[in-house]
Amino acid sequence: MFRTVAISSLALALAACGNGNDAPDTPQTLTSDTGAGTSETTETPAAPGEVGPASAEAANLPHADAELIEIYKQLHANPELSFKEAKSAALMASELENLGFDVTTGIGQDWVVAKAMKDVGAVKDGVGGHGVVGVLRNGDGPTLMIRADMDALPVPDQTGFPFASEVRSTTWTGVESPVMHACGHDIHMTSWIGTARALVARKDEWNGTLVMIAQPAEEIGLGAQAMLADGLYSRFPQPDYNLALHVSASAPAGTVVYTKGYAMANVDSVDITVKGVGGHGAYPHTTRDPVLIGSHIVVALQSLVSRNTNPQDSAVVTVGSFKAGAKHNIISDEATLLLTVRSYDDATRKMLLDGIERIAKAQAEAFGAPEPEIKVEQDYTPSLFNNADLADKAMTAIANTIGKDNVKEVPPVMGGEDFSQFGRTDENIPGLLFWVGAVEPARYEASKDSSLPLPSLHSPFFAPDYDPTIATGVEAMTAAALELFKEG
Ligand SMILES: [Zn+2]
Ligand SMILES: [Zn+2]
Repeated sequence: MFRTVAISSLALALAACGNGNDAPDTPQTLTSDTGAGTSETTETPAAPGEVGPASAEAANLPHADAELIEIYKQLHANPELSFKEAKSAALMASELENLGFDVTTGIGQDWVVAKAMKDVGAVKDGVGGHGVVGVLRNGDGPTLMIRADMDALPVPDQTGFPFASEVRSTTWTGVESPVMHACGHDIHMTSWIGTARALVARKDEWNGTLVMIAQPAEEIGLGAQAMLADGLYSRFPQPDYNLALHVSASAPAGTVVYTKGYAMANVDSVDITVKGVGGHGAYPHTTRDPVLIGSHIVVALQSLVSRNTNPQDSAVVTVGSFKAGAKHNIISDEATLLLTVRSYDDATRKMLLDGIERIAKAQAEAFGAPEPEIKVEQDYTPSLFNNADLADKAMTAIANTIGKDNVKEVPPVMGGEDFSQFGRTDENIPGLLFWVGAVEPARYEASKDSSLPLPSLHSPFFAPDYDPTIATGVEAMTAAALELFKEG
C-alpha cells in the first residue's frame, strides 16, 4: 500500500522541479562553484583484476523495482545544487514517513545560514539546510545509520538519456549554471529509498534502530558538518555503525568494490595571493613581477611531494588556477594561485600546508616582493577511514548476496568525501563507504580492450547503467544492514 502513496508523494514533491528553467541551450562549457569547500568524489578506484561479470551476456545482472527506476529518472531529470536540495529532501522525507519512520527535516538550517552569511554575505534564493533524519525503532539491538547524499553539480548533462537534465540554477555562491547529477547522488538516493523499503518489508528479520539520513551539500564538503552541528548525534539515537555507498565510474554494474583503512583523502583548498609591484611591461626593472614570482612558487611547490613526502605515503599538490594581469604590456601588481592539496594522514597534511606557506613566503622574499597572503580554507574535508572489521562483516554479507566474484578490495583514491566527517567526532563511530559499480559491463570490457577512458564521476557524459546499479546498491546495503543488526 505504501508504495502507491510514495509514488503520489513523489509526483507532488517533484512536480515543480523543472520550473524556472528557461528552455536552456545545451551548454558546452562547465562552470564551477567558487565556494570554498570541496568534497568532490571525482575519481573512483579502478577495479583491477577480474572483478565482475566477464561480459554483458554472461552478466545476468539484477533488475531494480520498476518504481525505483521511475524515482531515479525523476531525480536525474530534476537535479538540485548543494544547499538547494529542497525537493529531493521532501521526497526522501515523505518516503520515510510513508514507511513509518519518525522523520525530522531541515537539519542544519542555522549552520547553513551562518555559513552563507560568512562566506557569501547573503543567503541566496533557495539556499538552506535540507538535511533529513528518519528513525525507525524495531526492538532492542544495534543502532545503524545509513546515509545518502542529495546534491548535484554545476555540469551540463550530456548523458543522452531521454530524461537528461535541462535544469539551470545558481550555486549557493550565485554562479548561474546548468545542473546535472554527474556524481551519481541520484543513484544513491534511489538505492537509499530501496534499502529503507526492503528493511521495512523484512522487519521481522532484524532488531535494532535504523537511522536513515539524507545529507545535503556533499559536493562542497559542508553538508555533513551542517548536520552534525545541528545535533545529529545528540537529538537522534547515536549510531553504533555508519554506512554509505557511492557509485563507481570505473567498476562494472553488478559489482561492489571497497577499501579498508584510508579510502579517500584529506581535501584542502589553499589560496595564495602573490603581491608584486605593478608597472609598464617595457620597464620591468621598476616592478616586482608577480607572474614570475608565482611561476617560481608553482615550480617550488612540486618539491613538497617529490622531496618532503615519505615515498611510502601519498600526497598531491595541484595548482588548479593561476591568474594575473589584464594586458600584454602591463606587469600586474598581484597574481592568485588556487591549490588543491591531498593527503591521508594528519602529519602529512600539516607538512604540506606548512610547506606551502614556507615556499610562498620565501619565494616572494627572494624576489624582493611583499609578503604573499596565504589562506587555507578552514572547512576542509578530512580523509575517509573505513573501519576494517566493519568492512569485513559487511563485505562477507554482501558477497553472500551478490556473489563473491562480484566483490573486490581495491586501492584507495585521492578524491574526497565528507561522509568522513561522521567518523571524526568525539563519538568515534566506525564507518564504511563502499563503491557500487555503475558502468555498463560491455562498455567496461570495451574500455579495457581499447584503453579508451571511461567518463569519470563529475563528467557530463557519466551515464550510469542505472537499473543493475540501483538493484545492486539496494541488495548490498540491505545485506550489510541485516548483518550488522545481528551484531547486537
Ligand atoms: Zn562528487
Ligand atoms: Zn559523490
